[in-house]
Amino acid sequence: MERLRIRILGLRGDAILVTHLPNIAYLCGFTGSSGVLLVGPDTATLFTDGRYAIQAPEEVAGTRVRVRIAKRGLLSEAGAALRASRGRQRVLFPPSKISVGQFQQLRAAAGARVLWSSDKNAVEELRAVKDARELEEMRQAARLISEVFDDLTGLVQAGIAENEIAAEAEYRMRRKGAAGPSFESIVAAGPRSALPHARPTARPIGKNELVVLDLGAILRGYCSDMTRTVFVGRAPRKVRGWYHAVLEAQLAAIDALAAGVKAGDVDAAARRALRRHGLARAFTHSTGHGLGLEVHEIPRLARGDQAQLAAGNVVTIEPGVYIEGVGGIRIEDDVAIGERGIEILTRATKEFLEL
Ligand code: ZN
Ligand code: ZN
Repeated sequence: MERLRIRILGLRGDAILVTHLPNIAYLCGFTGSSGVLLVGPDTATLFTDGRYAIQAPEEVAGTRVRVRIAKRGLLSEAGAALRASRGRQRVLFPPSKISVGQFQQLRAAAGARVLWSSDKNAVEELRAVKDARELEEMRQAARLISEVFDDLTGLVQAGIAENEIAAEAEYRMRRKGAAGPSFESIVAAGPRSALPHARPTARPIGKNELVVLDLGAILRGYCSDMTRTVFVGRAPRKVRGWYHAVLEAQLAAIDALAAGVKAGDVDAAARRALRRHGLARAFTHSTGHGLGLEVHEIPRLARGDQAQLAAGNVVTIEPGVYIEGVGGIRIEDDVAIGERGIEILTRATKEFLEL
């Protein structure tokens, strides 16, 4: 909260209105599904509804955040609180996290003395740099998903449906203490593995097929996100070649990761490796993304991205190649960037498994 107040001053704001729930959880610990946090120079108020009358004060205890149980809409009450405070003030708000209708409601409630300006992702930028406690939570979330993958290798075989494997994965996550998957589990076999965001279907895995397993779990609020690709049967030489090209690209991108490096340069390292194998055009998405309370955060490791990576960032590295009608291969790890080098958090083997 203190670091946020420094940012608010830097953006010439007097206060910030936080509406995105993961940002609220980050700042004050509240995990309910309905809340608005108003942070001023020396006070902070969480507006929530009657369902959280017991939970909210418990969760924010020790953070000097007051809880107000709203009787009307949360934004109307937050706006009314701003109207009641003295003088003109500039309030930062998140244009990308609020609808036009919500903004109109807020502006009407706050009145003309409040000037609104963009928060420039102030909270997201703080969240991108993990502290030691957060890093330890992320290590454990990554260990959990690595163990789930190890368990699944015994189940993946011809005749089992993609969605059966996905169900097994999610059951095992919960058994190991996860709150649930951090995104819709991807289990995609054969030609479906060429769809980077395939949904698992009832289609049984066939003999001699690639299977992409992209899985993540939420453990104590923090997300993991890992992909491995296996082959059911003996892989033809061509497929083995693709696999090793993707692995080479993934290792090259991991090698390029360091504090101070531009995000786009990490992406370029992966692309360069795939180009050497004539596979550059088969890599149709970005190399990776930040990871934390949400599964997709800043920084984005995308083509040409000028953002500088910092110690404390946790990112995924996940190049892939996708050949329409044949199949796809993706390998994804979660990697923490430190002052002195990197730490790979996901531990499952990257050897090409032929099951
Ligand atoms: Zn993933
Ligand atoms: Zn990912």
